[in-house]
Parts: sequence; C-alpha cells; structure tokens
Amino acid sequence: MKEDFLHYIWQHQYYRNTDLATTESEPLQVLRTGYYNTDAGPDFREAIVKIGDVEWSGSVEIHLRASDWRRHNHQTDLKYDQVTLHVVWEADETISRTDGTIIPVLELKDRVDTALAYTYKQLQEARTIIPCANVWPDVPEITKTMMLGRALTERLEQKGHEVLQSYTTYNHDWEATAYHVLFKGFGFKINQEPMERLVKAIPATIVRKHRHLFQLEALLFGQAGFLADAEGEYVQMLAKEYGFLSHKYSLGDKAMQRHHWNFMRMRPANFPTVRLAQLAAVLANRQSFFTAILEAQTIKHFEALFMAEVSEFWQQRFTFSPEPSKATKTMGQGSAHNLVINVAIPLLAAYSQFTGNRTHLEKAIELLEKVKEASNKVTRLYEALGWKATSAADNQAALSLYKNYCQPVNCLQCAIGNKILKQNLLSRS
Ligand code: SF4
Repeated sequence: MKEDFLHYIWQHQYYRNTDLATTESEPLQVLRTGYYNTDAGPDFREAIVKIGDVEWSGSVEIHLRASDWRRHNHQTDLKYDQVTLHVVWEADETISRTDGTIIPVLELKDRVDTALAYTYKQLQEARTIIPCANVWPDVPEITKTMMLGRALTERLEQKGHEVLQSYTTYNHDWEATAYHVLFKGFGFKINQEPMERLVKAIPATIVRKHRHLFQLEALLFGQAGFLADAEGEYVQMLAKEYGFLSHKYSLGDKAMQRHHWNFMRMRPANFPTVRLAQLAAVLANRQSFFTAILEAQTIKHFEALFMAEVSEFWQQRFTFSPEPSKATKTMGQGSAHNLVINVAIPLLAAYSQFTGNRTHLEKAIELLEKVKEASNKVTRLYEALGWKATSAADNQAALSLYKNYCQPVNCLQCAIGNKILKQNLLSRS
C-alpha cells in the first residue's frame, strides 16, 4: 500500500466512521477534512476535528505507520506542531510534538472496506499496460468522456505553458515566440532539432524586415547551410542575396551546415528543403504570423495559412538538384493539420493563459475536433479496449491520459479510477 491511497481514503472519507475513536479510545468526529497541501508541512491543512468534547482546528498528517512520524523526524520539526490528528493505517507507536505532547491517532486498517483496498491493490499491481483494462468496458461512458475532456484541457494547458516559457525567453515578443513554434513545427518529427537551431540563427527582427518570398528563401536556405555549394542559376541568385543579408546582419557565425539536416528514410515531399520552401511561403508577404493565427477562425482559414504556395522553383523540386521533378505547389492537407495541432493550438492555448481569455482555448478545442489524426501506439491501447477516437481532440486526450495517469498509475487522481474504486468494479470482475 502507498500513502497516496490513505490520502484518497481521508480526502473522500471512505472508511467506516461509526463509533469513530482515537487509539486512546476518545470519541472522534471529523468536521472538516482540510485542504490537501502540496508544499512542505503536514498533508492536510485547516482541518477541524472534535476529540472528546473539544473542537480542534489544525492539520492532519497521514502515514502508513505511526512510527513513520519519528522516521521522518517530525517530532523535532516545528511545522508539524500544528497537527491535531495523525491518521495511519497501523498505529505501531505513540508519537509527539516538539514539546513532548502526545498527538491523537486514528487507525484505519480495520475501518477500510476490504473490497476497496483490494480494488486499489489490483490497479497498482495490474500487469496490463492500461492498469484498469479488465474493467474499462464496465466504466460508464460519461465518466470516460469527462476524464478524457479533463486530460485534453490539461494537455493544452501544458502546451500553452511551454510556449509561455519561450515567450519569456523571447523577451515577451509574441511574433518571435510564434516563429519559434512555427519553425519547430516545420521540422515535423525528424528535423525539429535543426529547425530550432535555425530559428535561433535568424533574429525575428530580420524575418520581419524581409518579407519578400525570394529574400526569405535566401535567409532560410542560406542560414540552414544549403547554399554553400549548390549549383544552378536560381541557387546562385539565392546565394548572392544571402551573402548580402548575411554580411549586413553579421549572420555568418550562426550559419548551419547541410549535414545538420536529416534526409534519411523520408519521402521527398518531406525533405527539409521542401519544408523550408513551404515555411518561407507561410512567412512571405505577411505582416504578422502570430496575428494571422489569432485571426483565423475556421479550419479552412488555417489550411490556407499553412498551405501557402511555394516559389516556382520549388513547385518543380524536392532538392536543389538542377533537374526539375514533379513536386507540388503546397503541402498536403495532412501536414497542414499536423501544423494546426503542433503550431496553432499551442499558440492559442498560450495566448488564452496569457490573456485569461478562454475564447482562444475554446477555438483550439473546436479546431482539434475538426482535425483528423491517424491513430498512434498510445491511442491504439485504448482502442483495443473498445474506445474509438474520432478526431485529433480524442487522440490528444488519450495521449495525455496515458502519459499523466495510466503510465504512472495515477488511478487515484483519475475520474475513471475513482469510479472503479467507488463501485469496487475490480473486486467484482
Ligand atoms: S489512470 Fe484511470 S484510465 Fe488509467 S488505468 Fe488508472 S483508472 Fe484506468
């Protein structure tokens, strides 16, 4: 058993409370369980208990064994002097405050429903990847929907939080922050690291100043290291323009090299050269990329934003090869939706947190519900239990549920786990 199970039992008062008494046989009444404390000090603060005829306001400390109090040196810690009740699974010794006064103890081991303890143990010791897999189909759909909704909101909050950290790094400049998220998104899975390196190698102020597609290509391909030895008339022109910009802004010492980019095991349409051309097209002739994200309302608007038409050269190339091939004018819809998920949504979530305006978060959730996303290793775990993802919102929710709850077996914090424990589903299965 773990202490967090006792926290759960205490918080929800899931124990038999008839003839409640301390280990010293004094009648006990719990008038307020208190607030769970995540900082240093006792586990629950501002609790109220009545012991005998006296009402006590203070804290509650919870341990598996009473002797844990001494093992944690609480008897010499002033922060624990305010504890009015020590709640334990097993009262194996008497404990006291720093002044030597004895602390009343409530022992739970004979008061907790054995089926509840059994269900908890089953979840903790389950050998299935999703610990509650055996009873997942018995959990009401509404509970699953509610928990997945919560997991999705938490994921968006986390993504928003990460963007806000970048926002601080970029000296509270939303446009520069948006470039960072955008470049990283354009790295897709394989070239995220070089894309992040590239965005740091081109100050946002320079991107803002040079919004012509040709100049943006020169900047991006030049700093990325693709213009050093490529051949052909168009490349020479880009190299010349890059030489001018690089000299003007002293960009040379941050320039990357071609070998930083990964071309292995990918379709030509995903080559980093193609992605850089598409990225230049998204940025071209646009006053502010971040404003465009805030102004776009529908999934069609976002598709139009990301599926910008590349320059004529890249409509016929995947690399700087002098020989034309059959390429495309814009990225595919699947890639654009990937950017909606990984660029637009985190930016909207961050701005919602920043402004306190939930409209942006609601827009992000609506967008996710409109975007299709292929199932992945994690969503397939839940699909195997009979659950079906119908949109990227479902996928993102499942990812969050798995990472934050199922994988670390945080069933006590999960609404599905609470339902299972309350109904003792596992003990009946
Ligand atoms: S965290 Fe929730 S969904 Fe995951 S295994 Fe536990 S009870 Fe089931």
